[in-house]
Amino acid sequence: MTTAATTGPGDDATPGGPFDLVVRAARAVLPEGERAVEVGVSCGRVAAVAPLGTGLRGAEVVELADDEVLLPGLVDSHVHVNEPGRTEWEGFASATRAAAAGGVTTIVDMPLNSLPPTTTVEHLDVKRERAAGQAFVDVGFWGGAVPGNTADLRPLHDEGVFGFKCFLADSGVPEFRHVEADELRADLAELKTFDGLMIVHAEDPGALSGAPQAPGRRYSDFLASRPATAESTAIAAVVDAARATGARAHVLHLSDAGSLPLIAAARADGVRLTVETCPHYLSLDADHVPDGATAYKCCPPIRESGNQDRLWQGLLDGVIDVVVTDHSPATADLKEPADGDFAAAWGGVASLQLGLAVVWTEARRRGVPLERVVRWMSAGPAGLVGLERKGAIAVGKDADLVVFAPEATFVVEPARLHHKNPVTPYAGRDLTGVVRRTLLRGAEVTDEPAGTLLRRED
Ligand SMILES: [Zn+2]
Repeated sequence: MTTAATTGPGDDATPGGPFDLVVRAARAVLPEGERAVEVGVSCGRVAAVAPLGTGLRGAEVVELADDEVLLPGLVDSHVHVNEPGRTEWEGFASATRAAAAGGVTTIVDMPLNSLPPTTTVEHLDVKRERAAGQAFVDVGFWGGAVPGNTADLRPLHDEGVFGFKCFLADSGVPEFRHVEADELRADLAELKTFDGLMIVHAEDPGALSGAPQAPGRRYSDFLASRPATAESTAIAAVVDAARATGARAHVLHLSDAGSLPLIAAARADGVRLTVETCPHYLSLDADHVPDGATAYKCCPPIRESGNQDRLWQGLLDGVIDVVVTDHSPATADLKEPADGDFAAAWGGVASLQLGLAVVWTEARRRGVPLERVVRWMSAGPAGLVGLERKGAIAVGKDADLVVFAPEATFVVEPARLHHKNPVTPYAGRDLTGVVRRTLLRGAEVTDEPAGTLLRRED
């Protein structure tokens, strides 16, 4: 990759330019597949996509090296920033810096673990005030649906949140309570009136409380405490509520591949349901989690390798729509208690900076092309939240661009992560795929935070 100043802007106004920036790439992932192109950027948007060799002229020209591929910036719709209130877990500056380093140019922040949670317009304003001026990538917000706040959902929608998150089981923090089945249905009925989206943490509290609870260092005990039936039971409840109300629902962080037939059948019936899974479910498996290694703890849990194979098949079959990180860090003392007790440790895997490399490493091993990975991690999440300007290299879109070296390798060193708490189950792993450069609306992400706060587009 080289950068050079060539023709200045304003020399003439031919269709070939001049643009503010021209990027030349022998390989670029476009909506129609990989192509050799030149991308012209004006005022932060993609203004032209032409075959390589056309000779678009730009005030600045970036030429990708032979081992590099141009990707659209990734969109991660599942990130817990935690600021304000638990900023020592993660904050807007550290999270968005990590995002940029990982090729993610848009994040949508989850409504819980911050204080206040994003359950009213007043709380949304607090979060926006804190995010403003310290985001290195673009940031949007989810609202929260908790018992008693049905009347807050529409005002939050009108203020531009991308949808609403609820839990069907304990969320892990006392200020964000889970909803019962009747409350889920009432909230979905309310969302149907403005075509809002409900995103659901689907684990069933009855199935969880009926499972054996054996605290301690053994991963197998933790896995047994969060059985697959907890997911399948809860997902069935989501399907029922979405079917009954006609509202849109999205299953967060699917771990149980056994739920895929149920999901596929509901969709075939016309139920408006989408599904995500996460890098850790696609790359880690229960048979290889060391006892006491609480960095691997998340809910729902990482399951056995056969389950992982079926999740990949679910992606390839199109039953799973998107791959997003569920980046959910906590401080090291909470995440890695000295006694290695899985029951006591915070549940959440922090991987915002590593998600692309983690998923690509596994996809490559399985013979899955890069363009599919990019669709699951960029256009897919952009479509989920309705961000028309994001998720593709195409005329009119924001020029969020990533220079990616898909055959370059690196070893994960926690010290090189920008996450505020770089505890990671990927420490020491060899990953393939290096993000070399990230551009947000045509400008390289630098030490000046240039991210904007996004609102849902009508
Ligand atoms: Zn989450």
